Amino acid sequence: TVRPARIPEWMRRPIQTDVDYAETHATLKKNGLHTVCEDAKCPNRHECWNHGTATIMILGNVCTRDCRFCSIATGKPDGLDTEEPQRVAEAVETMKLKHVVITSVTRDDLPDGGAEIFAQTIMAIKTRMPEVTVEVLTPDFLGRKELLFKVLDAGPVVFNHNVETVKRLQRSIRSGATYERSLKILKHASEYGDGSIKVKTGIMLGLGETNEEVMECLQDIYDHGVRLLTIGQYMAPTRDHARTKRFVTPKEFTDFEDAAYKIGFEAVASGPLVRSSYRADNMVTA
Ligand code: SF4
Ligand code: SF4
Repeated sequence: TVRPARIPEWMRRPIQTDVDYAETHATLKKNGLHTVCEDAKCPNRHECWNHGTATIMILGNVCTRDCRFCSIATGKPDGLDTEEPQRVAEAVETMKLKHVVITSVTRDDLPDGGAEIFAQTIMAIKTRMPEVTVEVLTPDFLGRKELLFKVLDAGPVVFNHNVETVKRLQRSIRSGATYERSLKILKHASEYGDGSIKVKTGIMLGLGETNEEVMECLQDIYDHGVRLLTIGQYMAPTRDHARTKRFVTPKEFTDFEDAAYKIGFEAVASGPLVRSSYRADNMVTA
C-alpha cells in the first residue's frame, strides 16, 4: 500500500483567534460542557462561531462504540446528568447562538439510548431561547423508531444522522452500526409528522471509497428521504485510526455537489473542510 500524499494546500486554514474565543470557552467550561468545535479542533470554528453556530456534545464524552475514524474515547460512560439540558440552554443563551447543533456519543448502555435527555435539551433551549433553531445530530438508537420519535417530538428543525461512508466500508469503519440501520432511521425521520423536519446526513471521503460507490451512496440516502447533505474530507486523527487513503480535490468535491443537486438534494455542502455541522445555519434556510 502507498502512503497518502502530504496534506495538500487546500486542507490548510489558519486558525484565527479573537477575544470571543476566550469568553465562549469560559462559558462552556463553567457549564461543564464540550463543543465538538473545540474538542475536535475544527478548522471552521472562527467562521461558525462568528455566525452564531456551534455544536454542543451532550451525554458525556465517553462512547460505547469504537469507530475507526473517530477520536472520541471508548469505554463505560458515566451515569446520567439530568441537569445537563438546563446547562446547555444557559450556554446557548450566553454564547448568543442563533443555530445550535446538539450531538452526543452513542449510549448503548442506556435503556433509551439517551433519547430523553436529547428531547429535554431541545425543549430547554426552545423554552429559554424560542428564536434559536435546534438541529440534532444523533446516534442510530439501535434503529428503534420510538426513541427517534421521542427526540423528534421535541421539535428540532433539522434531524441529522451521519452514514459516514459508503456501503462497502461500513463494517470496517463504523463499530456497531450498519448502513441499513442508519438508512432506516433517516427514512423514519423523513416520514415523521407532516414531514416538515429536514433530514440530513453526511459522509467523509478518503476512507478508500471509489467515486462510483459515492454516487450509489448519494442515491441511497436520497431514496431514504434525506434532503440535506454534507460531504467532507476524512483526516485520520492519529496513526491508530483508519488511514487517510486519498485527498479528494476541491474540483471533485464540486462535482459531487453538482451531482447531488442533480439527484434532487435541497442543500449540499461539499468541500475539503466541510464537517457535518459546517455552517449548519445556512442549510436550515435552504
Ligand atoms: Fe465516535 Fe459516534 Fe462512533 Fe462513538 S458512535 S465512536 S462518537 S463516531
Ligand atoms: Fe463547530 Fe461544526 Fe462549525 Fe466545526 S463545522 S466549528 S464542529 S459547528
